[in-house]
Amino acid sequence: MKEKSSFDPPVCVTRATLPPLDAYMDCVRDIFASRQLTNQGSYAARLQQSLADFLGVPSLSLCANGTLALQLALRCLGLNGKTVITTPFTYVATLSALLWEGCTPVFADIDPRSLCLDPAGVERCLKEHPGAAGILPVHVYGNACDVDALADIAGRRGLCLLYDAAHAFGSTLRGTSLFAFGDAAVGSFHATKLFHTVEGGCVVSSRADANDTLSLLRAFGHVGDTHKCLGINAKMSELHAAMGLCLLPSVPDGLARRARLTALYDEALGVDETMNGVLRRPALAPDLAWNHAYYPVIFPDHGAAMRVMRDLAERNIHPRRYFYPSLTRLPYIQGASCPIAEDIAERVLCLPFWPDMDEDLVRKIAGLVRESLRA
Ligand SMILES: *Cc1c(COP(=O)(O)O)cnc(C)c1O
Repeated sequence: MKEKSSFDPPVCVTRATLPPLDAYMDCVRDIFASRQLTNQGSYAARLQQSLADFLGVPSLSLCANGTLALQLALRCLGLNGKTVITTPFTYVATLSALLWEGCTPVFADIDPRSLCLDPAGVERCLKEHPGAAGILPVHVYGNACDVDALADIAGRRGLCLLYDAAHAFGSTLRGTSLFAFGDAAVGSFHATKLFHTVEGGCVVSSRADANDTLSLLRAFGHVGDTHKCLGINAKMSELHAAMGLCLLPSVPDGLARRARLTALYDEALGVDETMNGVLRRPALAPDLAWNHAYYPVIFPDHGAAMRVMRDLAERNIHPRRYFYPSLTRLPYIQGASCPIAEDIAERVLCLPFWPDMDEDLVRKIAGLVRESLRA
């Protein structure tokens, strides 16, 4: 039998984007000379301003990572200890942030087309949990939630609306960054994300006092010798901020490359957004300029997805079950099940995807996926 060729090194689901090493080293030399390594130095201050400008929001607070940014945003909005409606189709950090802040998470199901929290499901949940104080939806894969319907529900019920926008950097809806929606939105700048600072995150809030509160919360709750509230350490270091400043200029080019590679995958796989195709992608919100943060494929059933996983693994290609499992299935969670999220989690894969990925590799992976589905 013919030996199958295998990739070495392995092809993983993504590859971190890096700036030119010289550009980063110039920053490192400058930081060494200044001896200011952290505590909101000039690099963090510049990155904060540059990101606010890039996103077109009045201001933004940097944090050490997206998970802590979620936790601080929950506190900032007064949601700690309260009941919050959220989605089970997300990375576990959305949920862990709620639990660490003493919140009671209640899962509403997702829309089967967009894979984002279904506003009708939120309404149903509110009937059962009238005491809920907030909603925490996720802009899954950089797609937009139904922001108008969710704002309407939150407005009518007096609920806080906090978006997990960890995937949403660079996505705009009707020309506005997804970070501008809700009472606050949280970003992650982890190395695997579209824009990163190795580890990092941010909070964008429309509330006037949010930045001051967040500055205090992320730096132990005191200014000089005046202790104002309980804080934690969630600051971003100068070396992390420098990575962000070096990478930010390459974001527009990366967005364009991602769009091209998506079109290539779509064509080679026969993927589209309709519900009746064999392979489909989540349906994008109308008027969304998508950031193409990931390349997710929804397979017809669990068996097909697992067959593709296995066949690609034989060639040392490793898509990721993102998201799996549905968070309703976690061993430390009790509560109602969400059939749509549970079904999708069983048959979705994110295929290898990064902005400077070789076009031949895209064609090759698409060919292997098709071959596997025919078998
Ligand atoms: C990455 C991610 C987070 C967590 O961000 P970190 O910076 O890794 O802490 C939260 N939510 C979602 C949806 C994510 O993808």
